[in-house]
Amino acid sequence: MSGDPLIARLAATVGEPHVLIDPGIAASYEVDWTGRWHGSARLVVRPESTPEVSRVVVACAALGVPIVPQGGNTGLVGGGVPVGVDGAIVLSLRRLSWLGPVDAVSGQVWVGAGATLAAVARHARAAGWDFGLDFAARDSATVGGAVATDAGGARVLRYGTARAQVLSLDAVLADGRLLGRTPANASTELGGLMKDGAGYDLVQLLAGSEGTLGVITAVRLRLVPLLPARVVALLAVQDTAAAQRVLAALRQRVGSLTAAEFFHADGLALVREHAGLPAPLHTETPTYLLVECASRSDPTDALAGALSGLAEVQDVAVASDPAGRAALWRYREAHAEAINAVGVPVKLDVAVPPAVLAGAGEAIRSAISAVAPSARTILFGHLAEANVHVNALGAGDAAEAVTDTVLRMVGALGGSISAEHGVGRAKPRWLRLSRTPVEIEAMRAIKSALDPGGLLNPGVLLPPR
Ligand SMILES: Cc1cc2nc3c(=O)[nH]c(=O)nc-3n(C[C@H](O)[C@H](O)[C@H](O)COP(=O)(O)OP(=O)(O)OC[C@H]3O[C@@H](n4cnc5c(N)ncnc54)[C@H](O)[C@@H]3O)c2cc1C
Repeated sequence: MSGDPLIARLAATVGEPHVLIDPGIAASYEVDWTGRWHGSARLVVRPESTPEVSRVVVACAALGVPIVPQGGNTGLVGGGVPVGVDGAIVLSLRRLSWLGPVDAVSGQVWVGAGATLAAVARHARAAGWDFGLDFAARDSATVGGAVATDAGGARVLRYGTARAQVLSLDAVLADGRLLGRTPANASTELGGLMKDGAGYDLVQLLAGSEGTLGVITAVRLRLVPLLPARVVALLAVQDTAAAQRVLAALRQRVGSLTAAEFFHADGLALVREHAGLPAPLHTETPTYLLVECASRSDPTDALAGALSGLAEVQDVAVASDPAGRAALWRYREAHAEAINAVGVPVKLDVAVPPAVLAGAGEAIRSAISAVAPSARTILFGHLAEANVHVNALGAGDAAEAVTDTVLRMVGALGGSISAEHGVGRAKPRWLRLSRTPVEIEAMRAIKSALDPGGLLNPGVLLPPR
């Protein structure tokens, strides 16, 4: 294949077809979903098992080769593509897509890091359970990537973010050692302890570490009850404050509330144009709230009862059949692809204290207009967590200024520069807006203890000194 010692060693480990050196074949691993982050990889390696991952890492460590772990490559902050990392390889985890048997007693399952969210959900449902993590990239995003970024999505309101679904995991450290206690055959019922207070929580340390501390190869997931009766309602409201008041009422009145998403008229218009969709409601309002309830018995009446008398709701469309629910969800979930179809956006994912959310949207729009007057700003997100996805289209040369102005504003509001997408390569410079100097020093100390050579995902998460 090649006289290159790295290539020869990796080919001997994973098989020649799984070491991609042809630039044409490797290209899709070098650019992110948005098209904003382009890198260059020495090669792409696709191991199939934890021992193979370990041998790949040992080979790279011996030659001082940086490693960029990659799952489904749906991340939105450039963390999974080799941007500005000289000589790095992409370590693709997609072939670790096995699904272990569902443990019927505990409602838990071991899965490979490369299993997609959709595959895990199908697997869980076939066994009478469900997976608490769900978002639009479900068919490509992997469990490893979701845990590595502590992804959130539509059901955080009820089930928490990715880290809340994780009971245990296996990860290969920078020297090739395995952090984890799973036998290779994954048929064990061990590792799913509901309580384990014996020292530092290393599992949770790996969650949200964005590939900088270890390569996650398997995850023990906590499943949630399968709730087959669902109802979705799309509500027309005047503004974000009204949407928040409706949500507060629903949280008090409806125990089955699972999702609460918001978007605005400009985003809706873009989605309709992109996907050729009709108007979802007779009434057009500046803001829309999409809610879903899930239960064992039909929650439609409970939701309708809770909504009745709420003056904020100006119009509503309700669906409880699968096709009708999917049609309503499309107005929210097609936002990312509709925005991408227009151009490469500056994407920011921020959270603010709920009390300031209503004013934050307008403030973000004005701040972007001030530094990028021709930019088109689309905001949408997860209402219960006051998590706003900021998309600035047509920012041109002002992309960095848009990022800077929005993140500073969010920092000043006491918010987070990264609600659920991670820090990646897009935002390390601004980490200090969300973390104190002491916290950043503690993170650096952990990084250098576990990866003294700095080979795992350099340039991601931690700012340069
Ligand atoms: C249409 C669309 C909608 C989305 N909606 C949401 C949403 O609602 N909520 C949300 O949170 N995110 C959302 N995302 C972002 C993205 O899907 C998530 O961040 C997802 O978790 C990334 O998973 P992945 O497998 O694609 O990871 P990648 O993009 O491949 O990688 C992401 C990061 O994790 C690291 N990584 C990947 N696998 C591993 C591993 N096995 N071990 C160690 N590190 C690893 C990478 O190095 C990188 O830093 C959306 C993306 C798209 C395209």
